[in-house]
Amino acid sequence: MIKKLLIANRGEIALRIVRACKQLGIKTVGVYSTADKDLMHLKFVDEAVCIGAPNATQSYLDINVILTAAEVAGADAIHPGYGFLSENAEFAEQVEEAGLTFIGPHADHIRLMGNKVSAINAMKKAGVPTVPGSVGAVTLHNAEEQAKDIGFPLLVKAASGGGGRGMRLVEHYDELISQVQAAKQEAEVSFGDDTVYMERFLKKPRHVEVQVLGDGNGNAIHLFDRDCSLQRRHQKVLEEAPAPSIPDDARTPILDACVRACEQIKYRGAGTFEFLYEDGEFFFIEMNTRVQVEHPVTEMITGIDIIVEQLKIASGYGLSYRQDEITENGHAIECRINAEDPQTFMPCPGTVEQFFAPGGAGVRFDSHLYQGYAIPTFYDSMIGKLICHAPTRKQALTKAVHALDELIINGIKTNIPLHRDIILSDEQFNEDAQNIHYLENHLLNTES
Ligand code: ADP
Repeated sequence: MIKKLLIANRGEIALRIVRACKQLGIKTVGVYSTADKDLMHLKFVDEAVCIGAPNATQSYLDINVILTAAEVAGADAIHPGYGFLSENAEFAEQVEEAGLTFIGPHADHIRLMGNKVSAINAMKKAGVPTVPGSVGAVTLHNAEEQAKDIGFPLLVKAASGGGGRGMRLVEHYDELISQVQAAKQEAEVSFGDDTVYMERFLKKPRHVEVQVLGDGNGNAIHLFDRDCSLQRRHQKVLEEAPAPSIPDDARTPILDACVRACEQIKYRGAGTFEFLYEDGEFFFIEMNTRVQVEHPVTEMITGIDIIVEQLKIASGYGLSYRQDEITENGHAIECRINAEDPQTFMPCPGTVEQFFAPGGAGVRFDSHLYQGYAIPTFYDSMIGKLICHAPTRKQALTKAVHALDELIINGIKTNIPLHRDIILSDEQFNEDAQNIHYLENHLLNTES
């Protein structure tokens, strides 16, 4: 087993990883930028190392500094969490070259899935259905030819894209070339790679994803699915597991296809296959080669600690469960709590003056907040995740409303009222007929 783990992240996920390490008797090394010395998890780690300036490029994204911190602290493994360096193949490679264990897949698989054009090709080969789209990359020369087969409206997407950035909707043929050109420029600026591809624009899909675990030797399991359709600007707001109302004859083949794809490439660690689901059909859009923000909803319905599994797999223990030992139980909802203005959605950092976390059976609040904590301006606005689990979806939603009422975060603006509105004010959501445009169309009335 790993002996000492460096956590190359911050906030709630760093604390979450500390908890899993304690469970397994692994010592922990926390790292922090000069803006982050008051982070909660630093109170619980065995050692803490300052890694540089607040700007993430000078701390959490600086590969050399993180590797040096690991060496100085005598860590034998690194967990990247999500975001930051978690899907950086070069980082994974350098961690292993330094003789340390990387908690995640092989660098080749991060690279394969990091480029969505190669990921889509790999999935086609493994028999996973993909969105009808371009064959390979799209250039200014082949765009018109490729678009003919796809039809309009279509989406131009960045091969190296992430976080919903760099996507362009093309409604008519005559705007195709200018949009491809604009998307290429945007992709170059945002991701340092101007490769773009095109997909048919699905009008009312749901975002449904499948959690997998692989041992790296050709064995893999799935932990069922999640629905993350409630999004704003392609960013997830509320997630749930399992994905509601998907018939078994559509669901089972997709769960199996994800497992087969992992087995075929000998995938190691935790991963998520993301799909759009429309009219009973699944279409693969991308694979994330790390733990997801929304992993707790899966943990609540399966009873499996995904971070513990990541650490065991990386330590060479293989998979703790056979597929037939995993069952899903009840329904779980996660509300992402952000420090933001509920009207403008602008981040609103500040000092937490009063804090109370809800509790009770099936209520979990994953967060690094505490009274007096000053949220730095430099990082993501997510400050916690409220997860509620109950036997049925309806009961989980009711529990979430009561837990949101109990959750007190004073001194800063948060999106707690938005979550209450989503759950309470619309019958359509409660009848589970949401799609990826639902939130913007029905509640926010904002342009996406
Ligand atoms: P990113 O990696 O930037 O998050 P994704 O490919 O995962 O990009 O897509 C993010 C979101 O954009 C999806 O959850 C969905 O809401 C929307 N989207 C992506 N592809 C399509 C498509 N072909 N048709 C309609 N919506 C899409």
